Amino acid sequence: MSAHDRAEPADDAPSSIGGHSAPGLKGDGLTTVNATASAALPVDVLLARAEEKRLAGDYRAGGELARTAADLAAATGDAAGEAAALRSLANQLMRLGRQEEAIAACRKAVVTLEALDDPVGLCEVLTLQAMPLIDLGMHDEALDVLATARDIAQRLGDRELLYWVHNRTGVVHGRMGEHELSTTYLMRALGMADGMNAEARFCILNNVSDNAVYEVPRLRGRGDLEAADQVLTGALGYVAEALRLAREARHPYREAISLDNHGMLLALAGDLDGAGRSVEESRLIAVRAGYRSLESAALQHQARIRMMRGHHTEAIEGLRLALERAHQAGEKPMAMEISQELSEAHERIGDFVAALAHYRDFHDLERELHNQVAAARARMAAHHFELDNVRLEAENARLEAELHRARSAELAADNVVWQRQATEDALTGLPNRRSADERLPKLVAAGGPVCVAVADVDRFKRVNDEYGHFIGDEVLRRIAAILLDRIGETDLVARFGGEEFLIALHGSGIEEARARCELLRASVAAYPWDTIEPGLTVTLSMGLTEVTGPASLADAMSQADQRLYQAKRNGRNRVQAD
Ligand code: GH3
Ligand code: MG
Ligand code: MG
Repeated sequence: MSAHDRAEPADDAPSSIGGHSAPGLKGDGLTTVNATASAALPVDVLLARAEEKRLAGDYRAGGELARTAADLAAATGDAAGEAAALRSLANQLMRLGRQEEAIAACRKAVVTLEALDDPVGLCEVLTLQAMPLIDLGMHDEALDVLATARDIAQRLGDRELLYWVHNRTGVVHGRMGEHELSTTYLMRALGMADGMNAEARFCILNNVSDNAVYEVPRLRGRGDLEAADQVLTGALGYVAEALRLAREARHPYREAISLDNHGMLLALAGDLDGAGRSVEESRLIAVRAGYRSLESAALQHQARIRMMRGHHTEAIEGLRLALERAHQAGEKPMAMEISQELSEAHERIGDFVAALAHYRDFHDLERELHNQVAAARARMAAHHFELDNVRLEAENARLEAELHRARSAELAADNVVWQRQATEDALTGLPNRRSADERLPKLVAAGGPVCVAVADVDRFKRVNDEYGHFIGDEVLRRIAAILLDRIGETDLVARFGGEEFLIALHGSGIEEARARCELLRASVAAYPWDTIEPGLTVTLSMGLTEVTGPASLADAMSQADQRLYQAKRNGRNRVQAD
């Protein structure tokens, strides 16, 4: 399995760039999928195409394909296929900013993978699920799923799984402002990244250097200058390596992220000129590719550098522009951070009125974000409830299958029962169609006149609709009993399917057969049906014809059928014999 299936580093983008939704990578407005055409394809082909689209950044088309694959797999009982498709779906929804739906897809996949007893898949999905949770600000929930994933990875002793869990756990702590813990987990992941592919290595190098942007000032603030220097030196090395990997892969998004981080680290090292150049390079790539959140991050960081130079008025200008871009990109956490910086910058130049206004903006945004998280949490709680039901259903299906297996085993041991099952209709106990098809030619070959009638219950759909399927079944059973009761030993009555019966009368010519069928029809019509349900009435229509020899059996059957429809057209509850 490629690391692509597990994560794309661009989406592990650091908090300093304010989240990871880069519109340029979202595939907005690209190909749309013809769902009807793709529905005819098998699950694995659909899934392969979905992943192809995902890797090309066309998440909209990829998501649609993945959803079609998931639905198809579910409909055909392909649980493994469904789980894989749901994972691809979640991966793409997340990048389209549809985090709650992504989480829902993950949870559904988790239920399926639990039933399949697939711990590797389970661990991967839980690790994936952490990402949209982080995006929604649901940090506790993200840590919860990651803790479960960590248990699984450790139990399996799977290094690569554990690497992703640590990496992502580090990202959550970073988002929570717990940079020391973040460092612990990220360093653990970094220690495991050797020998992994370039994508995985970029991801961790980038996350570690991003975390250092926060960690260095924190350590300096504590007076721990030596530790701060150590972290900074390490991070400058990591970010250079990340940048090299990004350029090697010709991945502009990754290049822009690492340039931005590089710039901020240079600024912390006192190289403000180098910092300015690096961030500007990042900004230009972001503008060119349409990565709006990266662009506003670059603007914010350029303003920070100007602040460091003491150019407060210019910094304020830059921050204003950054704020505008952050709002355009829908990046609330980043807008919050910028508002706070604007407030501080105004305070520095003594403009306390503006400082207070920005401080209020900061608080409004914080409250808004808080409410958003609470609302998402409530919606997801309702969803969890539904999923618990799904889980119960899955468990029921499993038990049912087990029961079925046990029964099948019993049946296999009892050949007589098995044979009966093959020839007998389970509902009515009458011979089934297959059995009738075998016995009818023998009946004709035995000699003497044979008449065949096809009987169909009138308006039976209404019986089901008005009284329920259970009563419908009871009606079929009683009709079978009535017919069986009134035919002779050498005759045959069978359930032909649905609410149709076949009656073969042996030794009667057409006139006698007509009279006997008339009797059968009248017996059904006169039966006290309302003892089953008040108001219930049941009648039959029949098409009757004589079989003139073995060769004409097929013709006779089709003629009986035609006559049955004639009987229906003529008003039902009648025998049509000509
Ligand atoms: P018509 O007079 O034209 O025969 O009308 P109808 O409603 O009987 O015919 P239609 O073919 O529209 O509906 C047949 C119904 O029989 C639909 C199906 O749900 C019902 N049916 C078929 N098999 C069973 C069964 O095993 N049990 C029950 N309860 N219903 C059945
Ligand atoms: Mg019918
Ligand atoms: Mg009918």
